[in-house]
Amino acid sequence: MGEPLKICLAASEVAPFAKTGGLADVAGALPKALLALGHRVVVIMPRYQMVDVERHRLRRLGVTIDVPIAERIEQAELLEGALDGGVPIYFIEKPSYYDRPALYGTPEGDYPDNAERFIFFSRGVVEAIKALGLNPDVLHCNDWQTGLTPVYLKTVYGEDPALAGVATVFSVHNLGYQGLFWHLDMPLTGLGWEIYTIDGIEFYDKINFLKGGLMFADVLNTVSETYAKEIQTEEFGHRLDGVLRRRSADLFGIVNGIDYGVWNPAGDPHLAATYSPEDLSGKAVCKQALQREMGLPEKATVPLVGIVSRLAAQKGLDLVVEAMERLMALGLQLAILGSGEAVYHEALSEVAERYPKQLGLALAFDEGLAHRIEAGADMFLMPSRYEPCGLNQLYSLKYGTIPIVRATGGLQDTIVNYSAARDTGTGFKFRSYSERAMVQALQRACEAYADQRAWRRLMERAMAQDFSWDASARAYEALYRRAVVQAAAGR
Ligand code: ADP
Repeated sequence: MGEPLKICLAASEVAPFAKTGGLADVAGALPKALLALGHRVVVIMPRYQMVDVERHRLRRLGVTIDVPIAERIEQAELLEGALDGGVPIYFIEKPSYYDRPALYGTPEGDYPDNAERFIFFSRGVVEAIKALGLNPDVLHCNDWQTGLTPVYLKTVYGEDPALAGVATVFSVHNLGYQGLFWHLDMPLTGLGWEIYTIDGIEFYDKINFLKGGLMFADVLNTVSETYAKEIQTEEFGHRLDGVLRRRSADLFGIVNGIDYGVWNPAGDPHLAATYSPEDLSGKAVCKQALQREMGLPEKATVPLVGIVSRLAAQKGLDLVVEAMERLMALGLQLAILGSGEAVYHEALSEVAERYPKQLGLALAFDEGLAHRIEAGADMFLMPSRYEPCGLNQLYSLKYGTIPIVRATGGLQDTIVNYSAARDTGTGFKFRSYSERAMVQALQRACEAYADQRAWRRLMERAMAQDFSWDASARAYEALYRRAVVQAAAGR
């Protein structure tokens, strides 16, 4: 075991306070699991408009931080709240940056001042650590929004005695989002131009915040072993594969856990009925309720396929749109919940109009409906182009909703392909990113579904899988200890 660690996790979104994707789930759940292992953990995030002070009972600390931005000093106030289970979470309140309807932008595009907003956050994290006297052993940063934090620690704050012992871990939750900004934003960072080089944060004539984390943190990780390997290849590397290969010895893969306190059909408050592996009768109730909610005919024996997704190129929705005719010919129903890029909103609305009896569509971000789809569907489709970890396939397993996934990243690592002959597996996998391969996988699933007894055993196997945070939190603990050793060696 070893001594308890003092850990500070910084993230731009943390469930249940603010969420656009999997990062929030991780940032909300990992700290609790680390606390359970005996560590001292705190979290830092921005205070967005949607973070309700009253509802979350946040406390103003009367502490302000001064954050240099370009030639100015901008002030922010710190608030304190807690994650369930008691992990303290600090919010950096700066209304001019964060008091907006969304986290990063609207369907039409990103907020134009995102560079400044997340330079402020990346540096604000360091200032908050100092102002609160946190003195962590490890600072765990996540994705491009905190990519500059390790850069600040190693440069501007390199000699600061209050931060001398701090090791940094940088997690990549999605390499496709790098925080790219034009070079004229460089003065906003307060970093010297010597950092704007190929060995620093320069990237094809732009500033790359994510690259900052990759170059300057002591230890790196991503959210599955397969994705850790994939991102070192040209195909999945988003032009950072060279950087990642160089840091290969410091790069690890740790699959995300899931929070069974939130995602468990036995006690899920969002559902029409709860159920468990011992008594699955509630699942049929959930299916009927979902069909009604999505405007689909209430038929018990038609396979109902769910999708809950950000609508972005990564998620493979183009395959779904292209294959719609062939999917519908399989006689199944589709329940799709998604929000994101306008092109997918349009394409999906168009097909939904053509197949009103088979396709239910909700273009929204709706936590409750996400739970109801997990529970009500028979199968869950994730045809991702790439998938760092993926959480929905793990929720699906718990809800006895059989995942149909493309064999990439975390989907490859967490789902075992079904074999009817051997009566093994937990889902249906396909390899090639093609309409044909996806439709074939769905066809196999529909055939298996027709054998209700075999399907029941498949559901039971799926529901018995354990992806709780405990094992992953232990892997993070080992990673943190490694970072501490490496940081000490580097000094
Ligand atoms: P990513 O982080 O790439 O979006 P993940 O599978 O890791 O993908 O995590 C997605 C998370 O966001 C899941 O918890 C999923 O339920 C949730 N989610 C995605 N889209 C929606 C939506 N439209 N409404 C509600 N929840 C959503």
